Amino acid sequence: MLSTVNTRFAPSPTGSLHLGNARTAFFSYLWARKAGGRFVLRIEDTDVERSQDRFRVELLSDLKWLGLDWDEGPDIGGPAAPYLQSQRSELYRALFHRLESEQRAYPCYCTPEDLELSRKLQRMAGQPPRYAGTCRHLSAAQRSEHESRGLRATLRFKVPDDALVEFTDLVHGAQRFASADIGDFIVRREDGTPSFFFCNAVDDAVMGITHVLRGDDHLTNTPRQLMVLDALGLRRPQYGHVGLLMGADGTPLSKRHGSTSVRDFRERGFLPEAVLNHLFHLGHTSDVDSWLRREAMPGHFRPDHLGRASTRFDESQLVHWQKESLQRASTLQVREWLAPSLPAPPAHLDLDAFVELVRHNVVLPADAAPWAAALYGQIAPLDDAARSVVDGAGSAFFSAALEAYDQSNGDWKTMTKSLKQATGKSGVSLFMPLRLALTGQSHGPELAPLLRLMPQALARARLQSHA
Ligand code: GLU
Ligand code: ZN
Repeated sequence: MLSTVNTRFAPSPTGSLHLGNARTAFFSYLWARKAGGRFVLRIEDTDVERSQDRFRVELLSDLKWLGLDWDEGPDIGGPAAPYLQSQRSELYRALFHRLESEQRAYPCYCTPEDLELSRKLQRMAGQPPRYAGTCRHLSAAQRSEHESRGLRATLRFKVPDDALVEFTDLVHGAQRFASADIGDFIVRREDGTPSFFFCNAVDDAVMGITHVLRGDDHLTNTPRQLMVLDALGLRRPQYGHVGLLMGADGTPLSKRHGSTSVRDFRERGFLPEAVLNHLFHLGHTSDVDSWLRREAMPGHFRPDHLGRASTRFDESQLVHWQKESLQRASTLQVREWLAPSLPAPPAHLDLDAFVELVRHNVVLPADAAPWAAALYGQIAPLDDAARSVVDGAGSAFFSAALEAYDQSNGDWKTMTKSLKQATGKSGVSLFMPLRLALTGQSHGPELAPLLRLMPQALARARLQSHA
């Protein structure tokens, strides 16, 4: 029997859903689905200044768009509700109280200036900067004296003096940190809000999360989080820190690399299946390399095959999965996908035929614009190279083409056969001038079906204009 695997995604609503975060969310989702456990969505919005409602709304919408449905979350509730950390203060308050009364935490009255000065002195003495323990041993009288001066305290966790914090990371293996290297850290900020170390760990335990997958950048936070959990007698989840997502140049993926958020890709017209197939293969080796339906992915997810090395995001790979996904989409799906990017088609256009015509020539919906223009709009003026091909064919060629068109009633095969006979041209020198004159493009969908869809008046006018 599989042991329980409950996972979660715990984003901070301080920005758009970054591809790197989407990846850890996806792996967490896959693991829960594979093992038949729960996948929880928790919003970590304790940073009041940087958290925004609009980012929370976007996050939920982008996750849904990807198809990562959760079993518990802010919109649907669940046994551990609420799922917004900003609404969990009561729980936190009770736990702060426990830590304090058991002398595992103490109020710290140091001002930012005090702390800065202390760090400076430590640096000068060649020591690593960490909290010096100034307020650890304040007497009750000293505390009330500070309080009476109106100083507001943070709450600091009392790190045990000579302990070892050990755990086995699911990706990085055995880890061991000496508590002596860790200064007493803040669990409650001056404004009463909980720090990340505290509420992130506490909520995972309270929500019954058994396996936490997250980015490598959190690996060194883990010993602090484990100390908090141990002090409160809460169950430790298992942590797995996956390698970060980098840009193609090996630096952390950022705006400089172009699109980096799920929303960017979504707005450009990438399909959710394409994004998922791409993420599935980023820093994760599975027993299959080929395209998978989302429903089939959990079965092929290998949590023990998550990479610790950082992984490079390369848009050309996403494009590959986009093509694979498009091939599998129905005519109706492609039609709905194209529609918002195209000018309204005329009533006479057979839309399904149009979709079948262009679907293999597009990666993104905007790529269909030239074919929409060719069939029911205005084609762009020819560039120099195209113009010289058309001019090279000459007006006699286009007069003959127009005649062949009329005689064949627009049937491409018949038309080109008689044009070949009339002009002696064949191959590229026959097709290319026609393609350019009719579509304005030197490449694109097959001309026979394209011509079938093109209104006769339009086809005639285009051939005529070069005759
Ligand atoms: N809110 C944290 C973040 O977005 C969560 C980290 C974690 O997954 O534990 O970085
Ligand atoms: Zn202090």
